[in-house]
Amino acid sequence: MTRIVLLPGDGIGPEIVSATRRLLERLGEFEFSEHPVGGASIDAHGMALIDEVLDACRDADAVLLGAVGGPKWDTTDPSAPRPEQGLLGLRKGLGLYANLRPVRPSPALVNASPLRTERIEGTDLLVVRELTGGIYFGDSGRDGEKAHDTCEYSVAEVERIARVGFEAAERRASAGGQTPRVTSVDKANVLETSRLWRETVTRVAREYREVELDHMLVDNAAMQLVSHPAHFDVLLTENMFGDILSDESAMLTGSLGMLPSASLADSGPGLFEPVHGSAPDIAGQGIANPLATFLSAAMMLRHGLDRPDEASAIERAVDSALEGGLRTPDLASDGTTRPAAPGLPEQIEVGTDEMTEAVIEALAA
Ligand code: NAD
Repeated sequence: MTRIVLLPGDGIGPEIVSATRRLLERLGEFEFSEHPVGGASIDAHGMALIDEVLDACRDADAVLLGAVGGPKWDTTDPSAPRPEQGLLGLRKGLGLYANLRPVRPSPALVNASPLRTERIEGTDLLVVRELTGGIYFGDSGRDGEKAHDTCEYSVAEVERIARVGFEAAERRASAGGQTPRVTSVDKANVLETSRLWRETVTRVAREYREVELDHMLVDNAAMQLVSHPAHFDVLLTENMFGDILSDESAMLTGSLGMLPSASLADSGPGLFEPVHGSAPDIAGQGIANPLATFLSAAMMLRHGLDRPDEASAIERAVDSALEGGLRTPDLASDGTTRPAAPGLPEQIEVGTDEMTEAVIEALAA
């Protein structure tokens, strides 16, 4: 039996995770266990992640997280526990070094993007970001009027994230029938770590003959993402460039409530979670958009549990609910019932439960 640890967390976390549990229960047989993390764990145990919960995660096949944080635990006291420590503890404890964020605007939501429809039509890309190296983890410090942050990468670190990128491209191609493509993003004209990155990625690419590889400087990539986003397949990049480019590409969809993510280790369970936070402003009102968490569950099935058919079934069911006109308030384009695009039905504003039922129904259809 596939074992899934559910970490609902705070704010809307429990609402969207329990909706996702209902969806997964309709899809197949899973063994679930649920544990507090973040603020909920601070309330229960005085710290954001306890060893028993980390052990339960290590023993599971996959971990699905809602979100952590909220005003209740906001503090400027450096010695007080903070909800985000739960996330960092999970990343470290599970060795999660690869962060995957797919960006595929749902056809029914193209109008939600700040970019013109014709620019984003056909966009279906995946950002593969290295998560544990680079400038965020190198030596840093201050000396009087000077400060430094050191960017370091080893060949081994680049090799393992490059393999994640190439394998993801192969998986996407076998599902979609297109040629797999990886665009490796660096700043090799200036940075030595980028030259090491480029050399290593080029060498690893020889193990993946089917995959087309090209290299792009990060400044150009930032530009191409808004001018020709549909040209990208897999974007492979280091930690800081990935941090910036994944947020930029996330905005192509225009709706935070739609974006899933996966963080993967070499072995052991991955962590799957929506990109958005705990939305304390709407917690407990039954109006949270559960779709990013549903799509995170789809990533869990595809990247964590090797069940790609069920992953695609969830993605199709989400598209179908949106094409039927259903919108949680965050997605309702202009507060009217006008169709979001020509040819689509009128929009109907719904809460978390109705959206969940509609996706479950579409799954069964
Ligand atoms: P947020 O993503 O929680 O909310 C931003 C806005 O988007 C809010 O108006 C919110 O209502 C809306 N929103 C977000 N997700 C939604 C959903 N699924 N359905 C409907 N509306 C949604 O970001 P924030 O307000 O900056 O942060 C709130 C808390 O979440 C903070 O404590 C922050 O630290 C935490 N946070 C956690 C994570 C995480 O757990 N991975 C990520 C980001 C922020």
